[in-house]
Amino acid sequence: MSPVPSPSISIIGAGFAGLTSGRCLKMKGIPSRIFDKRIQRQDTSRIITLRPWAYEPLAKVLDINYQQAVEKDQKPDSIMSDSMYCPQGQIEDSLSRDLHVEYSQELSEIERLESQMQGLVFNSMPSHGETFIKSQLIVGADGVHSGVRHLVSPEVQPRILPYVVYYGSRRMTARRYKGDIAPHMKYPAMFQFRKETQTLLRIIPCLPSSLLDDAGHVHVKYTYSRPAHEKDPLFRPDRRVWEAETIPNEFYQEIEGLKDLGPVFGKIFHPQRVRQDKVLHWLMRSLLVPLEKLQELADQGILLIGDAAHTIPILGSEGANLAIKDGIDLANYLADNAFSQLRGFYGQRYPEWQRAMSESERRLFDMHDYDHDIFEQE
Ligand SMILES: Cc1cc2nc3c(=O)[nH]c(=O)nc-3n(C[C@H](O)[C@H](O)[C@H](O)COP(=O)(O)OP(=O)(O)OC[C@H]3O[C@@H](n4cnc5c(N)ncnc54)[C@H](O)[C@@H]3O)c2cc1C
Repeated sequence: MSPVPSPSISIIGAGFAGLTSGRCLKMKGIPSRIFDKRIQRQDTSRIITLRPWAYEPLAKVLDINYQQAVEKDQKPDSIMSDSMYCPQGQIEDSLSRDLHVEYSQELSEIERLESQMQGLVFNSMPSHGETFIKSQLIVGADGVHSGVRHLVSPEVQPRILPYVVYYGSRRMTARRYKGDIAPHMKYPAMFQFRKETQTLLRIIPCLPSSLLDDAGHVHVKYTYSRPAHEKDPLFRPDRRVWEAETIPNEFYQEIEGLKDLGPVFGKIFHPQRVRQDKVLHWLMRSLLVPLEKLQELADQGILLIGDAAHTIPILGSEGANLAIKDGIDLANYLADNAFSQLRGFYGQRYPEWQRAMSESERRLFDMHDYDHDIFEQE
């Protein structure tokens, strides 16, 4: 083990929550160290929907006119007219600028030490060695499969909501995308279509700024979802994380059963093409760590934020919005309050998390409810 200088704040995870809190703390002159198990920040072409209550304070943090910076890409989406589509990679790039993230450090143990200190043990890749640090405050911003949460409250597990959700990604030439797909998209509204009573087909648009990969291809993303039936072969709540790529044949059979999809959906949900795509099985995980548990941990110098504290089902998620807002509010809170008052942080954030949890479940229901008319039809 190699001892290194002790920070007073250790942030575990360099996603939206960790980067935003690290950046905001730095702006307030409060030092922290940020650790992430990834080898380095991965560029993601993922497009996320940001709401005004997240992108407006984010724009202040990044000191940009967000509306202007993204106006070529972002127009109101069809579900919430004031929301914007943003490439995740661009936001993370901006957040991590001038911020030192210690990558390849996977938190594996937390030890309680004397005098309000915690000991953290990291598995350091690629050496497979261990790094040990001491910290007064641990911020668990390490996402849905949070190592911090698992270490300190393993009994808290997400629920899996009964929905069948498959997510596909198709690589095609930009020329084909521009010719066959883009003209039909109610661009850049999230193009959606409901085929049968409760089955939702969705195509996620490519934004101009993220259209091309190095070889001049685009990656068109789509989802196929519906409520799960009893003994549903497509609903696999107990599958392991790495089994997401194992797609049952019944999925392709359902795709074959789709009829009269029209020009765009007919191309994207073409059974033979879907078989060649990279398809993932998504679980609709839902979790809100009980307030008493969070307060108990806060008294020990451990705070959870972002997906580690509240996991919203991915379909129609506002998890990134919450993670960004958590990071901003946490930095404000730590600037104004003593470490002995950490539990007070949840007084501000918890009601917002409760709202988001209940709305997310309702939104999932509405998305698959035929009589609910929030979607545009092809
Ligand atoms: C396909 C998809 C589309 C989405 N679309 C939207 C959207 O449109 N709008 C929206 O608001 N939300 C969306 N979300 C949800 C959103 O991405 C998440 O809610 C958000 O990223 C959570 O941020 P976070 O910082 O809490 O966690 P994460 O972004 O998951 O970051 C956690 C970090 O912690 C690191 N880590 C994990 N364990 C350890 C460990 N033991 N030690 C060290 N580091 C560790 C991970 O490597 C990771 O970098 C989407 C999610 C997906 C998957």
